[in-house]
This record gives sequence, structure tokens and C-alpha cells, in this order.
Amino acid sequence: MNTTNLCGKVWLVGAGPGDPELLTLKAVRVLAGANVVLVDDLVDPRILEHARPTARIVHVGKRGGCRSTSQAFIEKLMIRLARRGAVVVRLKGGDPFVFGRGGEEAEALNQAGISCEVVNGITAGIAVPAAIGIPVTHRELAHGVTFITGHARGASNPDSSSPDSSSPDWAALRAGGTTLVIYMGMRRVETLVKGMLAAGYPADTPACAIQNGTLETQATVLSTLSALSKRITEAGLGSPGILIIGDVVRLANVATISSQQRAA
Ligand code: SAH
Repeated sequence: MNTTNLCGKVWLVGAGPGDPELLTLKAVRVLAGANVVLVDDLVDPRILEHARPTARIVHVGKRGGCRSTSQAFIEKLMIRLARRGAVVVRLKGGDPFVFGRGGEEAEALNQAGISCEVVNGITAGIAVPAAIGIPVTHRELAHGVTFITGHARGASNPDSSSPDSSSPDWAALRAGGTTLVIYMGMRRVETLVKGMLAAGYPADTPACAIQNGTLETQATVLSTLSALSKRITEAGLGSPGILIIGDVVRLANVATISSQQRAA
């Protein structure tokens, strides 16, 4: 195996939830030093202004259901570039280690003997609720917060080697008494809500959906759990969106939300 190549490096960098100002100083510094930037599609294009004008920018986005660059290809590309001595930034929405496949990429890089470092980003599950005034762990209303994916793994995601876990253990989640933040759940909201109601979540549990959180195009639906799917359809909300279930949703700033919707 050729090991004469370890001068390159890969940075797994979080681009934050959307608003380009929600980027860390470290991300800005690392971006400015990159020869190649591999960009996911949830990353706001304004963030790339921090890259060198000479940097090679490669879009490797993957949106649910669309054909996109395979995970294996992205990993091979990063390894190849680093072996040639490039400083590579792998730029991902939110935080690279929260539903971002950063863990898989770090493993692949470690196995290949490539130096790899993570730069955290602000995850959508905290920043997006906060953008409408929801504090996900308000201590009088929740024991904590649980981040889950609403995406059914297995058949619909041939990239995944994980076992099918399309249905979370709703009863256990309900017993935990935490705020639920559901990533990648917009398309399956009806199924998800059915599962929650069957597990004993009260129909009037406060619930909300936010699309494009922290961006100018942010759109919100405030609802009860049982009406959530219908309200999302009526409002025409789609991806990327996050679902928040629990009493903390009552703290949403209704005035801010309605002024945002009027401006849209
Ligand atoms: N690593 C990312 C999550 C990647 S999974 C993070 O830490 O935030 C992609 C999912 O994140 C989307 O399907 C959506 O559920 C959520 N998401 C990302 N950006 C969002 C935004 N601006 N508004 C609402 N949801 C968002």
C-alpha cells in the first residue's frame, strides 16, 4: 500500500443550519485553507465565499429520493485527493456528526490512514426551533431533547448498510418525556404521527414543522399532533423541514412567525 501520501488532510466541516452567519470561526479559517471543497446540497452557497477563489468546488449533494453521488464514491474521492496532498474540506449542513454521515466518512478516512478532523456546526435540531423562539430543553416543559430521523432506512436507501428501523420505539420515546426533534420526517409525517398516537401521545400534543429554518425562506406550521400532517399539506411545506413535538412548542413566538409568513 502506498503510504507516501500523508501530507493531505480532510476536514469534516459543519456549515450550520442555513443562515450563513451561523458558521464557526474555525469553519471560516479551515475553508480559507482548502484546495478542494466537497459540498452537500443543504449548504448555503454564500458560505462558499469563504473558500479561496482558486479552490476546486465539487457539489456532491444528496437530497432524499434523488439520484446523487454515492457515499462510496465521495469517500474514495476524499481519500484520492488527500493522497495527492490536497487539503480537502467536506462541507455538510448543520453538524457533520448529526445525521450527516460524518461518522462513516471519518471511519473510511481513518482506515485509509488519512488525517481527518471535525469542525462542528450548529445542528438544525437546535437552531431551527430557536429561530421561532422554541427552547428545546426548557426545564419546566421537557426532561431533555431527543433527535431522531423520520427517514425509513433499508429498502428506500440502498446506500445504507443499517438494518431497517423505519419505526422508532414511540412508546419508549413517550415514556422518556423529552422534546422530540425529527429530522428528515416531512415526507413520512402521516405515518410518524400515526405511530405516535398509537403509542399514547395525546392528540393535542403541541407540534410544529419548520421548513428552511434560519433562512429568509423559513416557513412554519404550528399545530396539534393529530392535525400536523393535514396542516403541513395545506401550507405546502416540504423539504428540508424539521418536526418538533412536545410542550416546548407552546413557547413558539407567534408574532415572529406571522411576520415571517407575511414577508414570504
Ligand atoms: N447534519 C445536519 C442534518 C442532516 S439531515 C444537521 O446537523 O443539521 C438533513 C435534515 O436536516 C433535513 O431533512 C431536515 O430535517 C433537517 N434540516 C437541515 N437544515 C434545515 C433547515 N434549514 N430547516 C429545517 N430543517 C433542516
